[in-house]
Amino acid sequence: MIEFKEVAKRYPNGYEALRHINLTIEQGEFVAIIGLSGAGKSTLIRTINRMHDITQGELTVDGTNVMSLHGKSLRKFRRKIGMIFQSFNLITRTTVIKNVLTAFVPDLPWWRAAFGIFTKDEKLKALEALDQMGILDKAFVRADQLSGGQQQRVALARTLAQNPQIILADEPVASLDPVTAKQVMDDFQRINRDMHITVLINIHHVELALQYATRVVGIRAGEIVYDGPASQVDQAVLDSIYQGKQEESA
Ligand code: ADP
Repeated sequence: MIEFKEVAKRYPNGYEALRHINLTIEQGEFVAIIGLSGAGKSTLIRTINRMHDITQGELTVDGTNVMSLHGKSLRKFRRKIGMIFQSFNLITRTTVIKNVLTAFVPDLPWWRAAFGIFTKDEKLKALEALDQMGILDKAFVRADQLSGGQQQRVALARTLAQNPQIILADEPVASLDPVTAKQVMDDFQRINRDMHITVLINIHHVELALQYATRVVGIRAGEIVYDGPASQVDQAVLDSIYQGKQEESA
């Protein structure tokens, strides 16, 4: 369970990107975060794995106060949380399997990481993750030879190899064409349903958010203005989330 209690985030330049965030996400939920560009969606997602630190309130994951974690405990905590980015973040000049194997690097002794020495078990796990994503046949292909959708699947396989409990996805389909975007969203849905992994996705395609997520959190100017079932998001809710845009264009 992820729990935000009166969380705020102020960046070092003084900008307050999040305010009064109260949010509880149960294990296994599929939550889409929507809102205008600059609303704070990415900041919110990134506070969970401490890519950004909150500056007020309390944020816990399964009862652990994330701000209390440092060094080894923070590294261990981060292993439970997969992160998927818009730009896939692969090492493009190496093979798919090597990319997936990087999931194990944080746990390796330095010499195994330095020489890229992986156990048979680790290699099997990596291949299994590629199989789960339907791209086992691409294991020995260089990552930059793959399409965008396939590269995002490699990123998902790398995350799955970590055995995550939560996957945070920051605009994972923003650079994909509409058909491929849907396929990748299908992958997230399958992972969520079959593996009971919590999926928290920052997405600007409202239709995709409503189609795939079971719960929608709408953010406007750093505050939650809607939190409820995707099925109850109507035009009035969308207007309240995207209000700033109307004001801007008026
Ligand atoms: P979204 O994901 O909804 O587009 P972000 O979370 O990326 O929004 O950003 C929220 C606000 O915080 C924006 O106004 C952005 O300019 C600001 N912001 C993001 N990162 C930083 C930073 N490192 N320092 C200062 N302000 C930032």
